[in-house]
Parts: sequence; structure tokens; C-alpha cells
Amino acid sequence: MQLTPIFARLSQQPVLLVGAGLVARRKAAALARGGVRLVVVAPDVSPDIEDIVAASGGEIHREPYREAFIDGVQWVVAATDSSEVNRQVYQHATARGIQINVVDRPDLCSFTLPSVVHRDPLIIAIGSGGASPVLTRMIRSRIESAIPASFGDLAGLMAKFRGQVKQRLANLNLRRRLWQNVVDGPVAEAVFSGNPDLAERLLRESINAAEQQTTLPGEVFLVGAGPGDPDLLTVKALRCMQLADVVLYDNLVSPAILDMTRADAERIYVGKRASNHAMPQQEISQRLVALAQQGKRVLRLKGGDPFIFGRGGEEIELLAQHRVPFQVVPGITAAAGCGAYAGIPLTHRDCAQSVRFITGHLARDNSELPWRELVMPQQTVVFYMGLIGLPIIVERLLEHGLPASHPIALVEKGTLPEQRVVCGTLADIVHKVQTRGIGGPTLIIMGEVVALRDKLKWFDVDS
Ligand code: SAH
Repeated sequence: MQLTPIFARLSQQPVLLVGAGLVARRKAAALARGGVRLVVVAPDVSPDIEDIVAASGGEIHREPYREAFIDGVQWVVAATDSSEVNRQVYQHATARGIQINVVDRPDLCSFTLPSVVHRDPLIIAIGSGGASPVLTRMIRSRIESAIPASFGDLAGLMAKFRGQVKQRLANLNLRRRLWQNVVDGPVAEAVFSGNPDLAERLLRESINAAEQQTTLPGEVFLVGAGPGDPDLLTVKALRCMQLADVVLYDNLVSPAILDMTRADAERIYVGKRASNHAMPQQEISQRLVALAQQGKRVLRLKGGDPFIFGRGGEEIELLAQHRVPFQVVPGITAAAGCGAYAGIPLTHRDCAQSVRFITGHLARDNSELPWRELVMPQQTVVFYMGLIGLPIIVERLLEHGLPASHPIALVEKGTLPEQRVVCGTLADIVHKVQTRGIGGPTLIIMGEVVALRDKLKWFDVDS
């Protein structure tokens, strides 16, 4: 079932509640909290429902449900213990185009009442489309404990000054920045520590200061988004993603991660698909500078870690030249992510005292890789961007003395649900990779540690 979350202003409007048992009581309380006028129809009504209805300014009809009750209302909740009566109410409501909720029957609901965390005026609503009330309750209790009660006070303070700020600060970016600093700075701190007067004074000062401001300082966040699994984002990465006004991303950043950036942020794709360069590196760097100079908070989101084969160094060089403030946020690099998710430790006391990350992207010829060093014993070698060059890499390594039995693995789409791992030796890896139709992105891990994978099988190994 697909549901669209909407907050409706039903204050003082009549909502018909058919039934007055335990479930109806819960619905009555939820509706009353939103300020509706409850009209309850039921032969027997418990005193606590009476109180809720009275407080809502509503009325009670102590009699069985009749069709006539539905006239004049736009919202109905059927919460009797008789599925027959509930169905009748449903039919009457749908015939008139009236919004209907039948308890425990998601298929008979044109609207549902979400599970709610109240931090008035802040409201957080949670729904599972009827899939699992237990799940929604669990999420609700997590949110309850994660959002202090004083968030409501903060929201109230912001509501109070919203109109004034809009009037005094014409620039949208300036306003946004002010509010971000409020929720993330001393004003919020003052509210949370129970000091509303100080909070208000600080907010007034911030507004005055913002009014004097003519230029908005821009900033660039160069953020590593990890190898793919959104759970591998760092807390700091997530914070930058929530702050940024504009996002520049490439194809190593998974859609699930991109979805976690601010919904209203502008998104610019600057990636490279295959050998087709969408935007030359120099242009990306210039773009970062230009956007920051417009006063924007710019997020440059990169797969893995920005400083490991991420050209992060080149991008910040230009920023530094133009004195644009920037922060670099490290990410989990593909080697760490793929190693962990494929069950291959990158170092091991017995067989690998060092690990080397190397690019397998062979430019013109292949002489540029330090083959003699790569065949040294007791090390793990991780090739980034090595899929296309794999046959040549294997050939050179054998020529330089590695045995054909030397273990090597290839991890495709590491840490993502589609991850595939191909394990083999220098003798058979090329054939295995070809027959399985492996595509990108892929990481190659070579060394005795690969053979440990079988020993460390704590999960289903797929090859
Ligand atoms: N900065 C990135 C690397 C960018 S270079 C990092 O730190 O991970 C691009 C290469 O990274 C790809 O060709 C591939 O070798 C590797 N890579 C990135 N994500 C990967 C993933 N999810 N699975 C396997 N390899 C990955």
C-alpha cells in the first residue's frame, strides 16, 4: 500500500468515531490531541472517553451506528469490535467520498493515524502502512529517546521569529544559514539547558548580525561516502550532507547515499561513466571554487575515501589557492570495505605484515607499476581500478616470479547487496572473472590473506 504523509489542519472540525472500546479510546486521544471535535457513536461509552470527548468540545450519541451519522463529517474512524459494523461504515463513507479509517484493516483505510512523537510544535509521524505496529512502536521509542523534549521549545522559538527573520533577511541563503546556526549552535544550547531568555537574546543578536552581513561565507566539504553501503557513512559525513546547499557527486556514490543529502540541495553529476568523462577534473575544481564564492555550502561527495585514488588533493589545491575554506572528511576506502564484507583480512600476523594500495589502471604500457615490489612475500596487494588490466597484471606478476598458485580475489560492488566475490589463483582468476561476467566497480585483493577466507567463513561464502 502506498501512503502519502500529510499533516491536516482539523482543528475544531468534527470527526466521527464509531465505537468506544479500548482501541477507539486510543484513536480518540490521538485525534483530540490534534484539536478535532469528536463525535462518538456507541451504545456504551466508558468514562475516560467521555472526558476526552468533552474536552474536545464534541458530543456522544449513545446508540447503535446509523448511516445518518456520517452526514456532515469529512473524516470517519470505525473502531467497533464488530467487523460487520466497521465494514458498513466503510461502505457508507466510500460511497460519499468521505475519508475513512477502519482499525486493523489497512485495506479499508483511505487515511491512517501515524504513530507520533510530539515535541509541539514539532511533530514526528511514523507509519508502516499497516505492515508492523511493533516496528513503528520501536522506531517511535528510539526517536523519543533521541530527541530531547526541549526540541519543542526550540521549534517554538523558531516559529516565533520566523516572520521577522523573513522580513529582515531578504536573501534565502542567509536565512537558511541563520537557522542552521541556530539549531546547531549556542541558541539551541541555551534552549536545551533551560535558559529561554538567553536563547532569545542570542537569537536576536544573530539576526542583527546577519542583517549587517553582505556576503555569505561559502565552504566546501570534501567528503568520503564510503564504498556503497549507506551504513558505512561517518557521522561527520552525514552532518555535512545535511548542511550542504549543493552536491557534486560521481557514479561511485550510490543512490541510497545520495538520498541522504538535503532534499532541497541542488545536485550536480560530475562523474565519469566508463571512459566518458562527464566533467574534466579542472572544471570540477573550478566549479567548487565558483559555488563556494557564491556563498554556498558545497558538498563534494566521493566514493570511498577522498584521498585514496580520489583526486581529493587536486581539488583542494585550487580551493586553497582561492582561499576558499574547506574540510576533508575521510571515508571508508574500498579496500577496507571490501575486505570486511568479503571476509578477507588485509593484514595477518602470519602471512601479511603490510598492505599496499595500488592503481591497476595501466595507462599506455604497463611498465609503470613496480612489479618487483609487488611480488615480494608477506604482503597484501590491493589493486584499485584493475579489472580491465587484470590479464596483463596477472601476466606480469607471473613473469616476475609469483607462483601460479598465489591467491587472488576480486570483489565486485563491495558492501552493496549485489556484492560478488570471486576467489582463485593467478592461474585461474582471469578465466573465472570472464565466465562470471563481472562488471564494475571491482577491487582486486592479492595475497595469502585471500586463502584465509575459507577458514573465516562465518557467513555464506558465495564462491
Ligand atoms: N576513493 C575511492 C577509490 C576511487 S578509485 C576509495 O577510497 O575507495 C575507483 C576504484 O575504487 C574502482 O575502480 C574500484 O577499484 C574501487 N571501488 C570503489 N568502490 C568499490 C566497491 N564498492 N566495490 C569494489 N571496488 C570499489
